[in-house]
Amino acid sequence: MKSRVVVVGSTHVDLTVYVRELPRRGETVIGREFKVSYGGKGANQAVAAARLGAETFFISRVGNDQFGRGALENLRKNGVRTDFVRVDEEAHTGVALIFVDARGENMIAVAPGADEKVSPGDVESAREAFRGAHALLLQLEIPLETVQRAAEAAKEEGARVILNPAPARKLPESLLKLVDVLTPNEVELEMLSGVPVKSDEDIVKATEKLLNLGISAVVVTLGARGALIVSRDGKEEVPAFKVKPVDTTGAGDAFNGALAVALAEGKSLKDAVLFANMVAAIKVTKPGAQEGLPWRREVEEFAKERGVRI
Ligand code: ADP
Repeated sequence: MKSRVVVVGSTHVDLTVYVRELPRRGETVIGREFKVSYGGKGANQAVAAARLGAETFFISRVGNDQFGRGALENLRKNGVRTDFVRVDEEAHTGVALIFVDARGENMIAVAPGADEKVSPGDVESAREAFRGAHALLLQLEIPLETVQRAAEAAKEEGARVILNPAPARKLPESLLKLVDVLTPNEVELEMLSGVPVKSDEDIVKATEKLLNLGISAVVVTLGARGALIVSRDGKEEVPAFKVKPVDTTGAGDAFNGALAVALAEGKSLKDAVLFANMVAAIKVTKPGAQEGLPWRREVEEFAKERGVRI
């Protein structure tokens, strides 16, 4: 039986113009290149999970526009089940308008559009997807009440709840106590716990504060260092795989998608974090937050090359 992962989250389309210099106020600059890419933390994590072989249901919204149709087609091409991605008749598809200059500096404006309309009712309509699901994967680019409802639905149906608390914000205890595995980076950990994070001791202090709220385990992602697992059983650092990074955007999404798949497959938390480190390491060797996400076979080949059992 295939493991089932449900992802509830955002869908964006990124429109990027590559320019020599960023435009000043009132200025028009002529770009050198233009690129459309599909993103949103929710969509990226759903694609990550689907490429790794899980039956992946995605609950999200797009607008009734060209970007929404493109985003849906892209999800399907990647093997994501889009039965519960709603086409919103009023809001536009979430977009990010991005300028990148010759030095790699950027300017970004985001219009979340349909992402802000993903509702608790959408979760209820997708109840069927939660039945038989092994893991639910959440981020924070949709309304908090929807995140809360999804976590409750997962608990009612017996699925593990993995919350990637990005972008960083404070969260209510009522949500945190439903979380089985929380996956902040250091910035998000600081924001959630209220503990300034400057050293490894601070990380442990901050995670302990969160564990006291009822979360079973916190997995702090540490970039090129790897990840630290902190649970009531103790703490353990799982080092990253050494690779030559090309593009680290989307490393966190790769990590979370992989973690959800591994936990859904019944791996221990430590083995799941090892698998997630591996998937994220492969991602950083390739360009594109979403295009660079590896398929299962690439992960198996990488594991074989490095002599690691996954
Ligand atoms: P975010 O992108 O959300 O800030 P991190 O930067 O902590 O998250 O990266 C997420 C995960 O990606 C890390 O835990 C690690 O497994 C992997 N990773 C990130 N950067 C590198 C790197 N340079 N080399 C190998 N793995 C990396």
